[in-house]
Amino acid sequence: MSSVGQLSSEPRPYKLVSRVFHPEDSIIRVGAVEFGGPRIVVIAGPCAVESRTQVLQSAACVRETGVSVLRGGAYKPRTSPYSFQGLGREGLKILDEARQQLGLMVVTEAVDHESLELVAEWADMVQIGARNMQNFSLLKAVGSTKKPILLKRGLAATIDEWLMAAEYIAAHGNPNIVLCERGIRTYEGKTRNTLDLSAIPVVKQLSHLPIIVDPSHATGHWSWVAPMARAGVAAGADGLIIEVHPNPQEALSDGSQSLTLVHFRELVESLRPVTHAIGRQL
Ligand code: PEP
Ligand code: MN
Repeated sequence: MSSVGQLSSEPRPYKLVSRVFHPEDSIIRVGAVEFGGPRIVVIAGPCAVESRTQVLQSAACVRETGVSVLRGGAYKPRTSPYSFQGLGREGLKILDEARQQLGLMVVTEAVDHESLELVAEWADMVQIGARNMQNFSLLKAVGSTKKPILLKRGLAATIDEWLMAAEYIAAHGNPNIVLCERGIRTYEGKTRNTLDLSAIPVVKQLSHLPIIVDPSHATGHWSWVAPMARAGVAAGADGLIIEVHPNPQEALSDGSQSLTLVHFRELVESLRPVTHAIGRQL
């Protein structure tokens, strides 16, 4: 692809995740769900698993709207050591119950080697969060698992650094990677991060891996989530990951950016004309 070279004259150090060595789009399968195909994949659920009721309520809404992947952190990487750190193993059991009851796929975060062992056993997809994007020993470890990986972009990572992180996982034996743009740190303080929408076409040009957008962590405020979700899909993202909570005001983590179940339903409906306009489906 000659146009790839136009971005930089430097040789690209990633190979396995590069489009130069693998020109066709990769389709990453999580059960029957396909990331990178014609359908836009929506992942939704609470930031953190807080209780059985909270997860089952969120999961039922997610299911009802036709979404087939549930998110929810059992292990939470929190800025403050005094913030809720997650229910751990108990949280994984709750996610498992939601999966069994509703036939959903589950994605949840591994924050270290210890949690990875359990998460890789219980989850359908393992999330590596922004703060761990350059935790190279963890990347090597997820490379040795058989589960698909959701690799979030680091808070201040360049696209090359992000793709190199994906290369670590692929080089250690796991090619099943979905990238997630979740906003980067800029000087703008009104939003929690700045959603780098241009990363979508750039990544699509450089890599064959699917890329999804997380407008919840990118904006930090529920009322900005829907417009940026639609923008992400319009820009060519293969999917979205959205935080929802039955009662955001009482959320133990990221309540301000979590959609109510009603707002989430509205968002999904509003995505239909956008997906249609770009020749894709929900
Ligand atoms: C999350 O998904 O709840 C999370 C902590 O995301 P990030 O790693 O993008 O901050
Ligand atoms: Mn969160």
